[in-house]
Amino acid sequence: MSQRLSSALLGACLLAAVAVALAQAPPPAPSAAGFDEAIGRLERGEDVPRNKRELEQALARLRTLLPPDDPRRALRLRAYRCLTDDLGPAHNGLAFARAGLAEARRLGDVPAQVRFGYCESLYLDASGRSGEAAAPLEAALALARRHGDPHLIAEGLGIRGNARSLNGEQAAALVDLLEVERLYRQAELGEHAEATLLDIAIAYRRMGDHAKAADYLRQSTAFAERGRYWSLLVVSLLQTGFLHEDLGRYPQALEALQRALQVARQQDFEYDIGAAHLGIASVQVKQGDHAGAQRSLAAARTVFERVGDASNEAMLSLLEGQVLAARGQHAQALQRYAASERALQASDNLRYRAELHAARARSHEALGDWRAAAQDLRRQLELERRLDANQRDQQALLLRHQFDAARRDLENMRLQAERRSQAQKLEAAERVRRWQTVALITSAVLLLVLLALLLRQLYRMRRIRALAMTDELTGVANRRHIEQAALQAAAQARAEGRPLAVLTFDLDHFKRINDTYGHGAGDQVLVRVTRACEAALRQDDLLGRVGGEEFWVLLPGTSHEAALQVAERLREGVARLAFDDIAPGLRTTISLGLSALRADDASLDDAIDRADTALYRAKAAGRNRVEVEL
Ligand code: GH3
Ligand code: MG
Ligand code: MG
Repeated sequence: MSQRLSSALLGACLLAAVAVALAQAPPPAPSAAGFDEAIGRLERGEDVPRNKRELEQALARLRTLLPPDDPRRALRLRAYRCLTDDLGPAHNGLAFARAGLAEARRLGDVPAQVRFGYCESLYLDASGRSGEAAAPLEAALALARRHGDPHLIAEGLGIRGNARSLNGEQAAALVDLLEVERLYRQAELGEHAEATLLDIAIAYRRMGDHAKAADYLRQSTAFAERGRYWSLLVVSLLQTGFLHEDLGRYPQALEALQRALQVARQQDFEYDIGAAHLGIASVQVKQGDHAGAQRSLAAARTVFERVGDASNEAMLSLLEGQVLAARGQHAQALQRYAASERALQASDNLRYRAELHAARARSHEALGDWRAAAQDLRRQLELERRLDANQRDQQALLLRHQFDAARRDLENMRLQAERRSQAQKLEAAERVRRWQTVALITSAVLLLVLLALLLRQLYRMRRIRALAMTDELTGVANRRHIEQAALQAAAQARAEGRPLAVLTFDLDHFKRINDTYGHGAGDQVLVRVTRACEAALRQDDLLGRVGGEEFWVLLPGTSHEAALQVAERLREGVARLAFDDIAPGLRTTISLGLSALRADDASLDDAIDRADTALYRAKAAGRNRVEVEL
């Protein structure tokens, strides 16, 4: 808050510059999109006003961009101002925050609710009502976590961490502040993360972890120098001075504090000028430079009175007392110590109180008041014991928290690994299932292919068998086939008691056709004669070629008379065939012999022999005729 106060005064000095800057740039017109863009950059910390003047400029720009009659955007601007602008005395700020909070609730604007909540907590603290500050802060922080904006969460944790640090709870403070740094780094807000380093350093220093504090201060100072964040630089340097003083390294302490004083003067940070003088005075007292200390104290007191700061009264009075005591003015010193003790009632600063008792004991001793001196020394020892115990407790607490966090991280890692392996198992099972499907499909395809192959093989075998039973030239049954068929037909005829007639026939003078027209023409004549005979036969009859131009015909269920008609039909059919396309005037005839299966025949061969005999007679009788068995 005192930081804010110094900025307010700085701002007043720079008002003229603001006015000039505003006059030069034409003011932008109201624009909802422009406003959202500008305030978003500020809220997210992409734009960071470095001082009062830059903040004023940013706010002025937002006001001109703000569309008229836009309560939501107006509220958003108020929420930003609440956390950044100087709202005057603490009770004004508190009223501003509470009015904003009510409006934000009414409009259901969660980020604004969070910001006003933080703001309320800060102003409660500034009003000296620290006890009440925690509740609105916790509520806003919970809301921010539900909202899930890391920047908002980090802001709240930063406020809580600093409050805890001031309250002496360094371990809890560090848990918050280290989390803030982590959140900012995770959100890739490096500048914000670096700006947190100072708060972390201060908490470490208060906890008594000087090494960590020094490390963080070095980083914070470097960051502030790099980014020209003057206010941050001054406080980093002041803290570096305090740390050196804690460790008894007075020359280094003075060097850091002098640098802080120099930057504060350059930037006109009045409060910080006072703080630097006070810090220097403290070191000078410890070094025994009482004249220097007196000058520094006077300078500090002048500044603090001018800016209306009373928070350093305890320290000022204590140091003034020590200077007086060093000059042997113990009675006056005791008065200053009494003033310091009164101012310290408000705070719980064990270190100052221990120093006060130590200093007062020396003055009592000098004045011969042994009892009072002993009492102060006892108090000093007790306070120092408490201070040590506190620091040890806080260090242990932080270690335990970090241990717990590390264990939690390990547990999380184990769970994650488990989940990963579970996922891998599932994936493997899925892969197996996929392969099984592929295998199934492949098997099915293979089976189909095999089936097709089998069918083709069957077809081929049937064809081969058919070929084996078929005469190649004419396509009718060959000798083997018709001999088999003759056996079956005879057996069937006998079994059923039905007749079975047999014809044998032979082409007449076929040798002449071959000789005259060639073997090819002979073949064609053979084929056509066969076709003609096939066409003249019934379904159940079987025609077979048994030799060159010799044929048999089996006529099951056919009587002798009917068979004779069939024979005549065949003879006439062939005699009618003309082969002019093969050779003009080419014709042929057949001679046939007819017989039938008799009851006393040993086999059908007997009947066939008799048909052949009849055929021979037909030939002898002049050919182109049918002869019947005798
Ligand atoms: P016939 O009236 O007495 O039966 O006189 P033919 O000339 O028909 O008598 P032969 O049995 O002596 O002659 C049969 C001829 O048929 C002999 C042979 O050259 C011919 N031949 C046998 N098989 C085939 C064949 O597959 N194609 C051809 N073009 N000629 C054949
Ligand atoms: Mg012949
Ligand atoms: Mg012949």
